[in-house]
Amino acid sequence: MKKMKIAIIGAGISGITIASELQKFSEVKIFEKSRGVGGRMSTRYNEDFAFDHGVQCFTARTKAFQKFLQPFIVSEDVLPWIGKAVNIDIDGKISPRFWFETHLVAVPNMNSLCKKMAIGLDISTSIEVAPITKEDDLWNLKDTNGNDLGNFDFVISTAPQSQTKNLFGENFKIKEVNMQPCFALMIGFKERWQFDWIFAKVRNNPIKLIALNSSKPKRNSQVTSLVIHSRSSWTREHLEDNLDDVMHVLTDNLKNITGIDANKADYKSIHRWRYALVNEEKSEIFLDKNLKLAATSDWTTNSRIEDVWLMAKKLSESLIEK
Ligand SMILES: Cc1cc2nc3c(=O)[nH]c(=O)nc-3n(C[C@H](O)[C@H](O)[C@H](O)COP(=O)(O)OP(=O)(O)OC[C@H]3O[C@@H](n4cnc5c(N)ncnc54)[C@H](O)[C@@H]3O)c2cc1C
Repeated sequence: MKKMKIAIIGAGISGITIASELQKFSEVKIFEKSRGVGGRMSTRYNEDFAFDHGVQCFTARTKAFQKFLQPFIVSEDVLPWIGKAVNIDIDGKISPRFWFETHLVAVPNMNSLCKKMAIGLDISTSIEVAPITKEDDLWNLKDTNGNDLGNFDFVISTAPQSQTKNLFGENFKIKEVNMQPCFALMIGFKERWQFDWIFAKVRNNPIKLIALNSSKPKRNSQVTSLVIHSRSSWTREHLEDNLDDVMHVLTDNLKNITGIDANKADYKSIHRWRYALVNEEKSEIFLDKNLKLAATSDWTTNSRIEDVWLMAKKLSESLIEK
């Protein structure tokens, strides 16, 4: 029997998980608009520094996710991130913060796990899929420059909710969600880190967290690579501000609460995540067998890597049952 042709939009953890599951039964092709795989499990590098500017770390609570991770832990592609976590108050006062679970990171960079999982999959990067159209009984995909990407029996989107709506049109019913934005400020110093903590949750400040990326396993600990995430409530109000202005506010606040002077940094940049996180109560599969469309990502569950992975598995199983 002829294998079903499936197109997956997005090469983050969702897209790669689904492709790995379905490739035994179908002909699967992933289209990714960025230059590489990983999506929000991403890393920005330069000569001296590496910054995981999306997700910082993840936990594994279910047996299924632990079993999936086990070979990557054995091969040291995923390792615990160990060190002291703290809370920082508006006046700079530091108090202990307890990590009750093991916090895991991909090694040597956050995007390395998706890169490993992507081996053997058919992925085309730097291709942004445009809204899809029906041709006879098949879905025709084009990129945003109008180039033909082929016809497919089934299409799965792992893009954010509003982008999925745009790609699939109104007939595909999905829930409304409010995705929260976040700015990621990246700062590099060529000297080693001077403090005894590696992660800080900041209270009552435009800064939500400070993560010492150079303290993660198998990173360059001779330098200081810091990722600073802004608080979503503050980000929403400043989403369209000039990035230099945002950088100034965040670096001023960083100096006030920690004394770290980003003006003396050897590297500084900022990334605007328009769709960073969601906080959903309920997990729900979006699969329309008549339209031959499906969608999954954190907005169908919540923004934990483990839950996103579980939903991608669940959706794949529903498709295999089909
Ligand atoms: C700042 C930040 C902090 C976070 N913190 C945590 C945390 O502490 N713990 C945790 O577990 N999770 C956290 N997350 C969430 C976690 O990263 C995501 O839930 C998870 O990575 C989502 O994976 P995904 O594959 O579903 O989506 P994504 O990783 O977003 O992948 C979707 C992919 O689709 C591509 N795409 C979109 N539209 C198109 C198109 N038209 N054509 C082609 N490609 C397209 C995108 O480029 C992207 O690569 C955080 C995320 C961010 C940004």
